[in-house]
Amino acid sequence: MLDLAPMEHVHEIEITEEHVTILYNQKITNNYNTNEITQKEWIYKYNDDPEFVQAVRAVIELARKHLRDMPDNIACPPGCAECCSGYEPFVSKADVQRIADFLGMNYEDALDEYVVKRDSADGFSVGYLRKVTDDVADQCVFLKGSSSGRHYCGIYEGRPHDCRAFTPIGCEDVDASLRHDRNFVPGSPFQPKHPPKTRRRLR
Ligand code: SF4
Ligand code: SF4
Repeated sequence: MLDLAPMEHVHEIEITEEHVTILYNQKITNNYNTNEITQKEWIYKYNDDPEFVQAVRAVIELARKHLRDMPDNIACPPGCAECCSGYEPFVSKADVQRIADFLGMNYEDALDEYVVKRDSADGFSVGYLRKVTDDVADQCVFLKGSSSGRHYCGIYEGRPHDCRAFTPIGCEDVDASLRHDRNFVPGSPFQPKHPPKTRRRLR
């Protein structure tokens, strides 16, 4: 039987037609230049229990149907930008360069003006996007549309990877009055305070 007591930090649950696998109690030890990951694994093979197999198959079918239904809902409804206030998107050098290109600035100026510098241990991130004030719960400096109440990203084509990868799956804060099936016309893009002489736009 499954002993739930030590399963406090479940990392992943995989359910197939043959077994359930649970990875838990993962520990990451940071060494000088490597990370050592250890975890416990619990596997339950139930393919000799036809009723259980049937029940699990039904759950898997439901999950597959949900996956098929997902594309409509995989993006946030246009206008919602709750998360552009609640999170600090971390940026890599490539992200900063993309933002700089979008705004027609050079890398160093974009980094100084729009990034709170904080190098990650692995050197991948150079910091996170600035908020309009020093309050980390404030809105992203690039968020626009506050006066209309229908927000949009002012650097959409140049936004960092963290923002591109964000999905509303499991989201409970979505503004339910906003819909996917209506046209949303964003306003003008973000303008730097000191506009560069030449602007180069991404496609
Ligand atoms: S860059 Fe755009 S999408 Fe990302 S947090 Fe800022 S406003 Fe939101
Ligand atoms: S829909 Fe959800 S995930 Fe997307 S911005 Fe709104 S609150 Fe965030």
